[in-house]
Amino acid sequence: MSQKKYRHETLAVHAGQAPDPTTLSRAVPICRTTAFNFKSAGHAANLFGLKELGNIYSRLTNPTNSILEDRLAQLEGGAAALTLSSGTSAIAFTILNILKGGDELVSANNLYGGTYTQFDAIFPNYGITTRFTRVNDFDAVRKSINEKTRALYVESIGNPRLDVADIEKYAQIAREFHLPLIVDSTFTPPTLLRPIEYGANIVIHSLSKWIGGHGTAIGGAVIDAGNFDWTDKKFALYNEPDGGYHGLRFAHDLGDLNKLAFILRLRTVGLRNLGPTLSPDSAWIFLQGLETLPLRVRKHSENALAVAKWLKQNPNVAWVRYPGLETDEAYPVAKKYLKDGFGGVVVCGLKGGYDAAVKLVDSISLFSNVANVGDAKSLILHPASTSHSQLSEKSKTESGLDSSLIRLSIGLEHIDDIIDALDEVIS
Ligand SMILES: *Cc1c(COP(=O)(O)O)cnc(C)c1O
Repeated sequence: MSQKKYRHETLAVHAGQAPDPTTLSRAVPICRTTAFNFKSAGHAANLFGLKELGNIYSRLTNPTNSILEDRLAQLEGGAAALTLSSGTSAIAFTILNILKGGDELVSANNLYGGTYTQFDAIFPNYGITTRFTRVNDFDAVRKSINEKTRALYVESIGNPRLDVADIEKYAQIAREFHLPLIVDSTFTPPTLLRPIEYGANIVIHSLSKWIGGHGTAIGGAVIDAGNFDWTDKKFALYNEPDGGYHGLRFAHDLGDLNKLAFILRLRTVGLRNLGPTLSPDSAWIFLQGLETLPLRVRKHSENALAVAKWLKQNPNVAWVRYPGLETDEAYPVAKKYLKDGFGGVVVCGLKGGYDAAVKLVDSISLFSNVANVGDAKSLILHPASTSHSQLSEKSKTESGLDSSLIRLSIGLEHIDDIIDALDEVIS
């Protein structure tokens, strides 16, 4: 693409792609190949020695995935991106690309269930521990940071109660202590929020949700803002010679690419040697989703706001959380960051509590009872009995998970049909 600064709707359709020069295919071709021909022994040697950039083997790079990576980087205003096999692997490999045994992470506690389990129960087995704080409790964040801390982690809109992180304030603390700020922005695709504009260093997406948008593939992405200085010695993985990469020091030996040390290491160590690669078929599905992302997300947000308002006035509903409701405690922060809608998820509790939630999930029409969000179809889930059931009672309470909580991912159906489906079972 030319250097012209296109708007997000245009980037979503075009960024990262020129018609294929060999076939002149207008749509992005799916490169279903494991390996790529070397032009000569010298060409192969240069590719392996990182002296020349090019495709070697699809575990590392694939042209279809590269277009998706470039498009996501441009949409987020980042310097470069990497796609991975799932949002979950994007998170795990981001952490492993910064922290080693003995290091600590400071994270908000209102996390996606799988992420909480990684931080709370899996990484401690490898000596990486997490100090959890309530989202936007900046005193607690400061108190949790010590000489072992290597990163701050938040979700833009956090599970399960949809609190909105005050990213600018997190970024300010991150800068003060020279730590990278990692934001899982899955609930706020780049047409709603671009955390890098507020000082985030690394942005993560589960592509499986609104970016794919149709519930048809699993994938993840990490976008590097290219704005973090990794030469501080406390980031051992960037300053000590890497045994897996012939002694390379990622923060020092990449020349002009030193500012991309994080994403290059994620590819050349994480993807190359640990292997969480996204299939090019799935990359193509996500590219297809991205083309309509701005339109879809606007509609998801519009429908979700209407549902939240309807629930709010219903006498059988005990409580509703949606960051776009002016009465919501997240609204003051939400309106600062979310200029084009507040996302597609609404959570609520019925007056009948846990039992009423189970009954609703079992009897509602139109909505599908599934452990997913961000589909074109409306979805419903009762986390306390499903996705969050592995959490201990203590962490359930700490992360604000009420056993009555029902999560609604509002789809693209006609709003009257969505409301009718709720009205049949709630009134
Ligand atoms: C779904 C989700 C993930 C995990 O992504 P997968 O693609 O399902 O592995 C991580 N974070 C958030 C906020 C999510 O919604």
